[in-house]
Amino acid sequence: MAGMKRASLKASIATSLFAALLLGGCSFDTAKLASAPAPQDLPARIGAVSSADPLAQDAGMEMLNAGGNATDAAIATMLALTVVEPQSSGIGGGGFLIRGTADGKVESFDGREIAPAGAANDWFLRPDGTVLTFDESVKSGLSVGVPGNVAMAAMVHAKYGKLSWARLFEPAIRLARSGFPINRRLYDYLVQMPDHAGMSEFGKSLFYDQAGRAYPAGHVVINETLAKTFEAVAKAGPAAFYSGPNAAEIAGTVAAATPRPGAMTVADIASYQSKGRDAVCGTYRRYRICGMGPPSSGGIAVLQILGELERFDLKALGVDNPTTWHLFIEAQRLAYADRELYLADSDFVSVPVSGLLDPAYIAGRSALISADRSLAAVAAGIPDGAETAIADGDEPEEHGTSHLAAVDSANTMVSYTSTIEGPFGSGLMAGGFYLNNELTDFSRSPTGGDGKPVANRVEGGKRPRSSMAPTVVWDPEGRPVLAVGAAGGSTIPVQTARSIIGVIDFGLSARQAIGLPFIMAFGDQMMVEKGTWMELAIPGFQALGHTQITARPAPVKGGAVKWTGSEWESARDPRIEGGLDVP
Ligand code: GLU
Repeated sequence: MAGMKRASLKASIATSLFAALLLGGCSFDTAKLASAPAPQDLPARIGAVSSADPLAQDAGMEMLNAGGNATDAAIATMLALTVVEPQSSGIGGGGFLIRGTADGKVESFDGREIAPAGAANDWFLRPDGTVLTFDESVKSGLSVGVPGNVAMAAMVHAKYGKLSWARLFEPAIRLARSGFPINRRLYDYLVQMPDHAGMSEFGKSLFYDQAGRAYPAGHVVINETLAKTFEAVAKAGPAAFYSGPNAAEIAGTVAAATPRPGAMTVADIASYQSKGRDAVCGTYRRYRICGMGPPSSGGIAVLQILGELERFDLKALGVDNPTTWHLFIEAQRLAYADRELYLADSDFVSVPVSGLLDPAYIAGRSALISADRSLAAVAAGIPDGAETAIADGDEPEEHGTSHLAAVDSANTMVSYTSTIEGPFGSGLMAGGFYLNNELTDFSRSPTGGDGKPVANRVEGGKRPRSSMAPTVVWDPEGRPVLAVGAAGGSTIPVQTARSIIGVIDFGLSARQAIGLPFIMAFGDQMMVEKGTWMELAIPGFQALGHTQITARPAPVKGGAVKWTGSEWESARDPRIEGGLDVP
């Protein structure tokens, strides 16, 4: 791969244009960010970063330009997102990171939030055994898991970081202290969710005026409290997050909002541990694809969808053909049936990972798919090692996440999905950041209708099942070509598999692949993205037996870096610019 033009000028110009669009017509004082180097002034050819937010992306690029590697860039981007995309992710939440090198090594890391030791199966139940409403569960201490992003960042940095730990915090501290302009996306969420974003006095003071109106796009938010938290962690390391005043503030805030015994304690926070996990890998049309295993369902679902589709010639069918996407939906339905039943935290329940990924098992599942008729009903299969005395859980559709990706001059790829679960997480804040509501990713009902336990039920110290699917891909010659993933709750594996198909089967750019019309089955309901050719093709899908189809805006937000053959392309979901993405 000699002679590559990494971090193309094109990408820099697009970033600046986008920033200019965001700032257009508003009173943002650029002098406030004067100390931050403008991306177009930075030397290129050193790698690429993709983030949903251009300011966070610049933070990652700043690390590459300072001689840092993809690990440094990814961590700096995650930290900056805490400031500029507070509705989506941050140090009050968790995430998963996968790293793939030019010589084919892969490692994945788990920074998933954990339930306090005092949580049990009945965590989301009322005394009479009924399940709390989703809103009651979210806006309380019940939903908050011990945050994992800082511990995971420290673990990966200790192993692979090149720049100093403190250097990674510099852009985020600068953005928090000097201020960042509210963009249109954040503004829309502030308007829609004042009781949530402004649930705490601190959130209210940050984002709303005296009359309770959301500050407009362009208003510069200064978050000195967060800058101080960052400074403490930059100086003293993760201990400044997981012990001392920060841990006491998190535990106190969560406990005060938890309506039952078992609330988070400083001991829960001090005992948090990030983990190295086995990545799950497979091939698709001779490309090697690696993703995140349990407690995420993401990697397994992506590999199953792709594996079940491999016997079909999607390229010959064509990207605009309803049959292509009918096949995709059928593979997704089969993969999601397995996911609902089997996937959970493998430290607590037995997850038949190798059975689910066994090529013979996947071929058997694929054999159920017909190109001209939708399956009337879909059920989970029985892979080797499956525990069958379990039931499906419940999973709401929620979105508050950011996917980011980075690649460096050694062609090391880092794919990182960071989350606080729903928009503004639980609404609770500590240290200047939002605390996640990740525990609502557990099945709030501990048992299924038949009384059997749900694998993804709440247990003390357990990690809730995730959909996050940070993925890295090598081409048939073993060269790194793609780091991809998405935000959007249960849609994440579907988005990620679709982007991979767009790149591999249809030869699309990352941006085109991420921008493909979205389609997904949620149980018996199928959705197609409103305003795309798929909406017009609904009769075609109906003719294939899909009956309950609605067209609506897609709850999706993908991101990737992709090798084009001559340079690394950085892509964020085009829906972000159209204002149609998820938080
Ligand atoms: N909490 C979700 C998960 O871990 C992600 C939510 C989202 O993407 O918005 O799967």
